[in-house]
Amino acid sequence: MNFDLIVKNANLADGRMADIAVAKGKIVAVERDIEGDAQTMIDATGRLLSAPFIDIHFHMDATLSLGTPRFNRTGTLLEGIQLWGELRPLLTKEAVIERALRYCDLAVSQGILAVRSHVDVCDDRLVGVEALLEVRDMVQDYLDLQLVAFPQNGYFRSPIAARNLERALDMGVEVVGGIPHGERTMEDGRLSVTALCEIAAKRGLMVDLHCDETDDPHSRHIETLAYETQRLGLKGRVAGSHLTSMHSMDNYYASKLLPLIAEAEVHCIPNPVANVVLQGRHDTYPKRRGLMRVPELMALGVNVAFGQDSCMDPWYSLGNADMLEAANVAIHATHMTSHDAMKACFAAITDNAAKTFGLEGYGVAPGCNADFVLLDARDPIEAIRLRANRLAVVRRGKVISETAPHVSTLSLPGRPRTVEPSRYAPVEFATR
Ligand SMILES: [Zn+2]
Repeated sequence: MNFDLIVKNANLADGRMADIAVAKGKIVAVERDIEGDAQTMIDATGRLLSAPFIDIHFHMDATLSLGTPRFNRTGTLLEGIQLWGELRPLLTKEAVIERALRYCDLAVSQGILAVRSHVDVCDDRLVGVEALLEVRDMVQDYLDLQLVAFPQNGYFRSPIAARNLERALDMGVEVVGGIPHGERTMEDGRLSVTALCEIAAKRGLMVDLHCDETDDPHSRHIETLAYETQRLGLKGRVAGSHLTSMHSMDNYYASKLLPLIAEAEVHCIPNPVANVVLQGRHDTYPKRRGLMRVPELMALGVNVAFGQDSCMDPWYSLGNADMLEAANVAIHATHMTSHDAMKACFAAITDNAAKTFGLEGYGVAPGCNADFVLLDARDPIEAIRLRANRLAVVRRGKVISETAPHVSTLSLPGRPRTVEPSRYAPVEFATR
């Protein structure tokens, strides 16, 4: 039989080894020893083939703007927001499009084929919204871009936010955003959650709020978010991003809150890399890590997906569109070092994120879109450990990015000529 693409000898994330056959942009078979010809044949030689990475929380209107108009000197979330306020009036549609397209190139090379990006609506020009709606169309053949209307300065606190949020949704932005902890009072924060969920219910949209991104343990808007999700019948369509106050809540309250989140089927989106440096800034020692309670949420069956949040922008100077880095940092910051926990962190940048996104045809199984990434690693844990090179990135059956394996050449007397990290295993010593 003739296929468009066959990948031989791939390890799958679930531990199986299989060949993958692709025709007309879809996966048609995942099984051992597929016979047949294909235009493109790839021998994976036991490397990991995974469904593509998804960045479920990002700010594409801000990315690659680092240093404009200046750098964030304190590195805090609040100076980042202030700096963004200085940059926003300087934005042009062309510049946002150019930066976003460049970022998408990088994301694809790193195996990210879907991004949920918040886009600030606190600008009467709606430059970011117009730009990213165009970018969404421009990249759709190689990357799914989903946009969230985000009132950065507060849905109530900014006098222009409410009107512009509706304008952005009218223009085609598909998710309702918010920032309840950024409102003037707890009460306004609570009311904003209700108002935003009602907008989503009325329009049949999803919700993804920047929620409780603070070290204040009394910031409990997630409780309202879970409540409104149930009241308005939004189960499965609502996400709480950041939820960092959960780190600092007392255990008794958390023991009540977490089951409410599970019951309401609210997706939870930690942003480990960004929040581990943005939170705890008022602490001397000990310094809080400022991540939501990831293993405890997962244990209750809550769908947790990691986002990257930022890449070279007012909030975060580093970043490389690397979701394996997000998983790696999450493992360190949450003590999720057991074998099963590390595998769960790989799912948090793949399957769980697809569920939050509502991405159809995702996965490595017959009938799914032929979208996947071949990694220079044997299994998910090794991929996270090495932040493995993306040997091939495939979209609808076509290779759209390739990276050479990591090979270093040594000049050491009596030692091997090369080092390939993905060929390393714990050394077996002779024992007596
Ligand atoms: Zn964010």
